[in-house]
Amino acid sequence: MEWLPPGWCPRVVAFDIDGTLTDENKRLDMHAVEALRRLEDAGIPVILATGNVRAITYGLWRFIGLSGPMCCENGGVLWHPDWDEPHIRASGVEAKNAAIWLESQHPEIDSNGIQTNAWRESEWCLFKDENLELITKSIEASDWSNLDVVRTGFAIHLMEPHLSKGSGLELILERMGMQPSDLLSVGDAPNDLSMFAMSGWSVSVGTPFADVRDAADVVSPYPNSATIAPLVDAVLAVHSAQQL
Ligand SMILES: [Mg+2]
Repeated sequence: MEWLPPGWCPRVVAFDIDGTLTDENKRLDMHAVEALRRLEDAGIPVILATGNVRAITYGLWRFIGLSGPMCCENGGVLWHPDWDEPHIRASGVEAKNAAIWLESQHPEIDSNGIQTNAWRESEWCLFKDENLELITKSIEASDWSNLDVVRTGFAIHLMEPHLSKGSGLELILERMGMQPSDLLSVGDAPNDLSMFAMSGWSVSVGTPFADVRDAADVVSPYPNSATIAPLVDAVLAVHSAQQL
């Protein structure tokens, strides 16, 4: 399996969480956790790049023992342990109001959405099995037509269009003094496409999303988080060879 371009080693690696560091049932993969620790031990910082909120991502960051930044809420909330405060790129008020309006038009839609909205700072998330087509068409024809409707494996995100993992990672890398060409990104769902597009190299884990597999530089033969350990082995093999 050729995971990387010949001789290329990333300076930094961004991992999606849900469906990438977890199995398809959202259970964290201990082999993936160990692999992230090995990357950091080798001096390659890990970025957690997720649709999830800062509070939950921070818990994972802390308990894995990472040193790199976090790109949360699909780029809406950026955080680095060396920064004085997080960079919050949208208020999330419009997205929440759009959800409330959606329920007023279509009572079958639950505007309260998913549990983690309690800590959401820049966007709003509806349940993943809500009617995506109805939501997309309704939002397009509404006062909130400026909002993007983005489906991941675990939620339907209502978000301001300048927010994406890719645009968030560009800001993070700039502040770290790194280039997008230094970045390897790993993901499983459509909200990872923007980071695939700006990264030096991208890997799709085994995923049902055909557009994600098509967009990646490499597609893993392994489902979800089973990808992470062998991919990290390949990165560290190049890294060790370059240290000699
Ligand atoms: Mg995911």
